[in-house]
Amino acid sequence: MSDRYLDLVNTGFTKSLAKRLGLPRPAVLRRHHAGDPLVPGPVLVVHDAASRADADALAASLLAWDLDVRRHGGPGERFGAVVAVLTGVAAPADLGTPLLEVGAALRGLAPGGRVVTVSRSAGCGAGGGAPDGVVPAVATVAAARRGVEGALRSLAKELRGGATGNGVVLADGVGVGAPSALGALRFLLSGRSAFVDGQLLTVGSAAGTLPADLDRPLAGTVAVVTGAARGIGAAIARTLARDGATLVLVDVPAAGDALAAVANEVHGSALQLDVTADDAAQRLVAHVAARHGHLDVVVHNAGITRDKLLANLRPETWDPVLAVNVTAPLRLTAALLAADVLGPAPRVVALASTSGIAGNRGQSSYAASKAGVIGMVQASVGELAAAGGTVNAVAPGFIETEMTARIPFATREVARRLNSLQQGGQPVDVAEAIAFLASPQAGGITGQVLRVCGQNLVGA
Ligand code: NAD
Repeated sequence: MSDRYLDLVNTGFTKSLAKRLGLPRPAVLRRHHAGDPLVPGPVLVVHDAASRADADALAASLLAWDLDVRRHGGPGERFGAVVAVLTGVAAPADLGTPLLEVGAALRGLAPGGRVVTVSRSAGCGAGGGAPDGVVPAVATVAAARRGVEGALRSLAKELRGGATGNGVVLADGVGVGAPSALGALRFLLSGRSAFVDGQLLTVGSAAGTLPADLDRPLAGTVAVVTGAARGIGAAIARTLARDGATLVLVDVPAAGDALAAVANEVHGSALQLDVTADDAAQRLVAHVAARHGHLDVVVHNAGITRDKLLANLRPETWDPVLAVNVTAPLRLTAALLAADVLGPAPRVVALASTSGIAGNRGQSSYAASKAGVIGMVQASVGELAAAGGTVNAVAPGFIETEMTARIPFATREVARRLNSLQQGGQPVDVAEAIAFLASPQAGGITGQVLRVCGQNLVGA
């Protein structure tokens, strides 16, 4: 679905009119296109007093990606991105110098620019890092580390021109050069994270591997996507295929023609299947075993809404939402694990929603199902780890699809503007986040909920 207002305020006469009238002007976002530079300009790397070694290591990685790396900003300088290495902050007073350095560079941030913080998890222990060798009290360290999150979420709300601010949070013991730390940094710097804003992605371990070809990280893998006939599911199929995966695409028989069209486009196989059917898991396992022998990536995307106030809901409108959105992913994941059909490093990614985090009027059944997905993901970490894999959720905010096109006009217009980027996301934005979490580099990221919501003002 197109956003007419965004088109108008970015073209010709209506662009200058909107500027003169002081109307909100959502920017055209910088999305990934093959051959584009990773970042639209030089990258400034700043750090706190105790993080010089980590900053040096990250700067070396950025140079290896052919980026123009600067270690100091000056008045009037333009940057494509600012990376703030804050792994050493040990007391709240340590935050000021590096964050004010970030602030000084923001006026020169290019349209579609990026700010990425790299810090340590506040949930971890004191973990060293104090410049004078004294290990401060755990609470002091945690206050400093958590402070990064507050500053990041706030500065993301101050950025303009389609620029975004996000963070990579490292568990204690995970180095800045860990595959998932670098993978997350690269994702957040790139146009692949266009609609990810104000988010912090935690890297819990040094697991994961650097793919041989960074442009085709999923080469040689087999991925199943449910609900792939249209919308976000079709975009996930195209994006995973672009990244090298072989696709198994699932949707209900009623969507058979559209499913076949997407399958033909990505050279995948189509499986007409209602994911709530009693024999759904059995048929999926049989299809995968017969056609591909194994499965590496499972994307639980099929989803429905039956929105009504709770007072107006009946079992016939409540039950299907829970059955499709959360019971089916629970059953399918369990069956795939039990069937011994998964490859050595399986990746499960399930679609949650910001409604499942913040709640939404008229969406009690949908929010129950999507909060359920988050519960499922967080509780399945151990089981997937035992199988060598990861499990994560992606929580979209307002995405321009047929699902959101059905929302009444006034509600839709408000919902799509209430985020830091003042627009709805595109299905490909969600697909890019899923492709990253499915990649070999994301092996150290599990049990996470990555929001793709433009920093939706609703919810955490
Ligand atoms: P959509 O309605 O456009 O597409 C959903 C697809 O799932 C359809 O092709 C449909 O046929 C399929 N499907 C439904 N029931 C099925 C079943 N029982 N078995 C197999 N396939 C089934 O929806 P979308 O907007 O593309 O959303 C995709 C996912 O993203 C959903 O899980 C949705 O809840 C989630 N999501 C979407 C948004 C948004 O703004 N569009 C926001 C948050 C979360």
